[in-house]
Amino acid sequence: MRVTALILAAATLASACSTPAPTEAPAATASTPSAPSPDRKYLLERIDDAAVVQLYADGFASLPTQQKILTWHLYQAALAGRDIFIDQKHRNALEMRGVLEQIVAHPAGVDPATLAEIQRYTKLFWLNNGPYNNLTARKFVLKCTPDAFLAAARASAAAGARFTTPAGESLDAMLARLQPMFFDPNVDPIVTNKNPGAGRDILQASANNLYSGVSMADLEGFTEKYGLNSRLVKRDGTLVEEVYKADGMYGKQITEIVKHLEAAQPYAPEPMVKALATLVRFYQTGEVADRERYDIAWVQDKDSPVDTINGFIEVYMDPRGIKGSWEGLVYYVNQEKTARIKTLATNAQWFEDRMPWDAKYRKPNVQGIVANAIDVVVETGDSGPVTPIGINLPNDQAIREKHGSKSVALSNVTEAYNQSTPGSMRGEFSWTPEESERSAKFGEFAAALTTDMHEVIGHASGRQAEGKGTPQELIKEHFSALEEGRADLIGLYFIADPKLVELGIIPAADHDAVVRAEYESYTRNALVQLRRIREGTQIEEDHMRNRQMIIRWLMANTKAIEERTRDGKTYLVMADPAAFREGVGKLLAEVQRIKSEGDYAGAKALFETHGVHFDAKLRDEVVARVEKLNLPSYSGFVMPKLVPVAGPDGQITDVQISYPMDLTTQMLEYSGVRK
Ligand SMILES: [Zn+2]
Repeated sequence: MRVTALILAAATLASACSTPAPTEAPAATASTPSAPSPDRKYLLERIDDAAVVQLYADGFASLPTQQKILTWHLYQAALAGRDIFIDQKHRNALEMRGVLEQIVAHPAGVDPATLAEIQRYTKLFWLNNGPYNNLTARKFVLKCTPDAFLAAARASAAAGARFTTPAGESLDAMLARLQPMFFDPNVDPIVTNKNPGAGRDILQASANNLYSGVSMADLEGFTEKYGLNSRLVKRDGTLVEEVYKADGMYGKQITEIVKHLEAAQPYAPEPMVKALATLVRFYQTGEVADRERYDIAWVQDKDSPVDTINGFIEVYMDPRGIKGSWEGLVYYVNQEKTARIKTLATNAQWFEDRMPWDAKYRKPNVQGIVANAIDVVVETGDSGPVTPIGINLPNDQAIREKHGSKSVALSNVTEAYNQSTPGSMRGEFSWTPEESERSAKFGEFAAALTTDMHEVIGHASGRQAEGKGTPQELIKEHFSALEEGRADLIGLYFIADPKLVELGIIPAADHDAVVRAEYESYTRNALVQLRRIREGTQIEEDHMRNRQMIIRWLMANTKAIEERTRDGKTYLVMADPAAFREGVGKLLAEVQRIKSEGDYAGAKALFETHGVHFDAKLRDEVVARVEKLNLPSYSGFVMPKLVPVAGPDGQITDVQISYPMDLTTQMLEYSGVRK
């Protein structure tokens, strides 16, 4: 499970919240000791409502050589699987990308206006790993004409582009076949549609490639053997599982991943060797038992300074919440920033014993939560270029309960978010100047702390009622949003607890202001996040749903939040922090009960009432206000680049890191497209 960025409205990364940063300050003032030049470039370019941001991994250069070489092999394994996720997004996505990249790499002779439009579309395609917006799940299209696109492709071909077409198909025929995907917003319009409306099927209404020709009705009485790692296809009336494994679907990419994971092992510490070897085994067999062995080995590798997540992990893209999207991450522990998260992890049982829910859903023994602040070296597939800011794995509930989980806060990602976005948004949506100033002073610290609690004591907490199946199976399409809501609520609940002062996490003098700043910003977010959904009146993304649900539930059930208007503008005003916290505690108890009991109807009612639908007029107002500020809706990151240095015998002796500072350069390089 993961946390995504809440509000891109930061001023500085306050390393100590009692040392306030001035309002609207540039990023330099409170940077950490290891951060280099404060005026280096983060924001590279804007494409529509997306920002492209350079990610830095400053600590990499000072890692021991062995760890650098280990990172290099894992980095290659992460890149080797990149195309899997793009294919999972849509069955035509890789073909579409192939066409786009050839045109972008061979632009000579292409009409300039058409080229500019193709570049815009291609960058959005790269950022989102396909033609669907990662926040709204909706398709975006090319705004030139199909004829202009065809002319561009022909001009590129004349300039040296090599288009790969299926056997026997001409370039013209391929473009004609792909035309509806490139140009028609009504063909395969939504990648994941969990609420398609009465009488419509969630699988049929979702355009992703995790299923082919399958509807929910087909699944009745069908035993799925490879839930997480297969594509489900209806062929001649029968369901077939196409298993993702070395000699199965995505075999080419998986074989390449395996090669790099094997090359990494000689440089890895013992517990990690075991994890990598079990992962290789899982990729070879695709069997559930091998995946479980891998999950256990991965979670038992608690101390490796370098680590990787590589596989079919998160289930957000599947409307059923079963099939894993492929992702690859490689990272090292940021020792400086790990202290706070470790303190929370060490005290996890204290928090568990005080969870505001029925005692029977508390864990008597919270299992080893391993929590680290990390710096990412590369993220691909489902985790990049658009990245989470926190991750807690494995997702397998049974393994979590028995063996624990590992949590990471992606500190260099959070830093890059903060450094690349202006602070004007909180001013626009704050009711008073005091609220805006509080946010400038404490918002960043409060958000980072809440994220840590979300991951470390949030996802890891609670237990299932006796004799119930897994919550994923029982709560179905509402599970992910429910679980994210649960983890958010735990952060919101405990941020107000004096224990955090006692643990030295929040200075006593600042505690009230930190709590207020967090509650205010979480409240504002329910309004501000609507800017991300420019079409329709429904929220699809699970984190956005849970955040909407929490605030709207509090509005309906407590007096903590008031909706006010001034000069035709709407504000959500957090008026009573004590009532807010009390409401959070009550809602959390109910959310935990729903999860523990697998109460599907309860989850559905909660989200249908408070989390899914919104008022289009309100959204239009928010969009208009945000447009004036010219703020991005989301950010995608250009990853660091690693290059090995070889000695005379060809052995790698060092690995160098650099920063490409350009999305197009990096993406063409990843795809191996030559200019
Ligand atoms: Zn989460």
